[in-house]
Amino acid sequence: MNATESPRLTVIGTGYLGATHAICMAVLGYEVLGVDVDEGKIAKLASGEVPFFEPGLPELLAKALESGRLRFTTSFEEAGGFGDVHFLCVGTPQQPGSDAADLTYVDAAVRALAPYLDRRALVVGKSTVPVGTAKRLTEVIQDLAPAGTDVELAWNPEFLREGFAVDDTMRPDRMVFGVASQWAEDRLRAAFKPVLDLGTPVVRTDLATAELVKVAANSFLATKISYINAMAEVCEAVGADIKDLADSLALDDRIGGKFLKPGLGFGGGCLPKDIRAFAHRAEEIGVGQAVSFLREVDDINRRRRARTVDLVRELLGGQISGKRIAAWGAAFKPNSDDIRDAPALDVARTMHGLGGHVRVFDPAALDNARRAFPELRYGDSALDVAENADVVVLLTEWSDFREIDPAALAEVVREKRIVDGRHALDAERWRAAGWEYRALGRS
Ligand code: NAD
Repeated sequence: MNATESPRLTVIGTGYLGATHAICMAVLGYEVLGVDVDEGKIAKLASGEVPFFEPGLPELLAKALESGRLRFTTSFEEAGGFGDVHFLCVGTPQQPGSDAADLTYVDAAVRALAPYLDRRALVVGKSTVPVGTAKRLTEVIQDLAPAGTDVELAWNPEFLREGFAVDDTMRPDRMVFGVASQWAEDRLRAAFKPVLDLGTPVVRTDLATAELVKVAANSFLATKISYINAMAEVCEAVGADIKDLADSLALDDRIGGKFLKPGLGFGGGCLPKDIRAFAHRAEEIGVGQAVSFLREVDDINRRRRARTVDLVRELLGGQISGKRIAAWGAAFKPNSDDIRDAPALDVARTMHGLGGHVRVFDPAALDNARRAFPELRYGDSALDVAENADVVVLLTEWSDFREIDPAALAEVVREKRIVDGRHALDAERWRAAGWEYRALGRS
C-alpha cells in the first residue's frame, strides 16, 4: 500500500480515549477495528452501547455501526490482519505504591499485536507514557514482528478532554506526530486526512519530544490550577478574596483565565498520575530537580481537599460527626462519569470517615461511585440528598447545580449553609436568599 493511501485502522484499548477515537475515525470515513481485552466492553460497544458517559458519543457510535465501517474484537490476530495503522490507546495508570506509570498494559498490547504484524504497518502510541517508552517499544516490536516485516512505531499524544472528547478528536487544536521517518509521517497524515484538511496545525518531531509534549502540557495545566490555589491559601490567611484576585489575573491576556479557577483542585485519570509519573521519570534520568516543583503542585492540590473538609467543619460549628451532609458531585469534573482520583469523592469519604451522614448525588457518575464506594449513601437528585441537610457541599461544578434556586433548596434543608468547593455559585445571590455561603479562599 502507498503511504498516502487511506489506511485501515485498529484502535487497541477502547476506554475513554480509544472508544472515542475508534468511533470518530469511523464517522470520518475510515474502516476501523476496535480491540480490547475486556470482553464485556467489546460486547457493549458492538451492540451500540458506549460504556461511559460522553456527550454526543452514543449517537456517533450508532452512526458508525450503521455505516458498517466500525467493528470490535478481542482478537489480536484479527487486528494484525486488518490494520495498516494501529493506535495504542490502553491505560497507563499510576503503579500501586509508586509514582511511576504502570506500563504493563502498553507492553502487553504491543506484545500481543506484534507477532501478527505480517505486512508493513505503523503502530502509533496515543497513551500518555514516560519519555523513552517509544524507543524501548520500537525494539520490542521489531523483535516480535515476523522476520522481514517492516513495522515502525510513532507517537501521537492525545489531548482530548472528557466531556468534549468528540469535538477534541474531530477538531483538535493541534496534532503532534513523533516519527522516525517520512513514511511514518505520511501514514499519519493519511490516517488523519479529514482532520488535517480543516487546517489543524501539525508539529512533526521525534519520539521523545512527542512523549514529552503530553506530560509537559498536563504539568503546565496542573501548575496553573495549583498556582491559583496557592494564592487562595494566602488569601485565606489575610482575609483577601481569591475570586477577585483570579478575575483580575485572568484579564491579563499573558496569563488568561483558563485553568485559573480556584477551588477543590484537579483529579481524574490524567493530571495527578501524569505529573507524578513525570516527576518520577525525571528523577530516574537524573533531571529530577528540573521538575521538582511538580511535587509542590501535587501537595498544594491535595491540601485543597483537606481544606474543603475544614471549611465544612467550620461552617458546622466545629463538628462533622452526626451532621447531615449533602455532597453535590462525584465525577472528577462535570460532563463526565469518570471517578478516577475524584476530589469530590475523596472529600465525601473523608467526611463520612469523620462520622458525617453524607449523601452523594451526581448527574452521571452515581453508578461508578456506588460500585467503587458502596459505604457511602447516594440519592436520586440534588434536592433529594439535600433533604434535612445541615450543610450542602458543592464538589463538582455541574451546571445542574449552578441552576438550582436557593429559595427552592431552602425549603428542603435543615440549615441554609452551603460550601461552594468550585466557586460555581453566585455568592451574592445565595447570601441574599439567606444562605451562609462559604468558598475556599474567600472571607
Ligand atoms: P481507560 O482505562 O478508560 O481505557 C483503557 C482501556 O485499555 C480499557 O478498556 C482496557 O480494558 C484496555 N486494555 C488494557 N490492557 C489492554 C491490552 N493489553 N490490550 C487491549 N486493551 C487493553 O483509559 P483512558 O482514560 O482511555 O486512557 C488511556 C490512555 O490515554 C492513558 O494513557 C491516558 O493517560 C491517556 N489519555 C486519556 C485521556 C482521557 O481524557 N481519558 C486524555 C488523553 C490521554
